[in-house]
Amino acid sequence: MMRAQPAQRATGIWTVSEYTLDRGWLSQARRVPSPNFEPRPPGCVPELLVIHNISLPPGQYGGDAIERFFCNGLDCDEHPFYQEIRGVEVSAHLLIRRSGELVQFVGLEQRAWHAGQSCYAGRENCNDFSIGIELEGTDDDPYTGAQYRALAAVTFELQRYYPAISDECIVGHSDIAPGRKTDPGPSFDWARYRADLSAQGEKA
Ligand SMILES: [Zn+2]
Repeated sequence: MMRAQPAQRATGIWTVSEYTLDRGWLSQARRVPSPNFEPRPPGCVPELLVIHNISLPPGQYGGDAIERFFCNGLDCDEHPFYQEIRGVEVSAHLLIRRSGELVQFVGLEQRAWHAGQSCYAGRENCNDFSIGIELEGTDDDPYTGAQYRALAAVTFELQRYYPAISDECIVGHSDIAPGRKTDPGPSFDWARYRADLSAQGEKA
């Protein structure tokens, strides 16, 4: 497939897709550094991509509650649901908002706290070797076109930089924590995502 503008070729770092990755941080992402991370264990590199959803309060979009939650700054008296997550310290590397805006909380070289108790292909503690992307959403609300576009572009960039993340190594949180987690839910259109990702490869 041809585009009117040729894909930008690498001029320094990684510029082939819409995103530029520099030492674990995506230049185009708004940075909201979270304290909820630690170094990956020795020898661990990103080999798995985990897709999640989150919205705070659930089903309500916009606002900065997710960002405050991942930075341990959520006032849990603001909403009854927040009582359930009081004291919880979690994070993800990236969040894609309903508008498609990308927010980064943790450098990709670091271990974010998104997967919890989890197992992929017999290997536990998926946080050690994965990158976590949250989509602002719920298991039931269709995700936006802007979110699919941003997710495909980011995934393409991550796969270029971390080749171990093959297409088979992209999973939902529910796949690695079955019975405990349900996200990204039936609302996530895996076929559309895979097609969008293939289109990224064609235009590069
Ligand atoms: Zn999740």
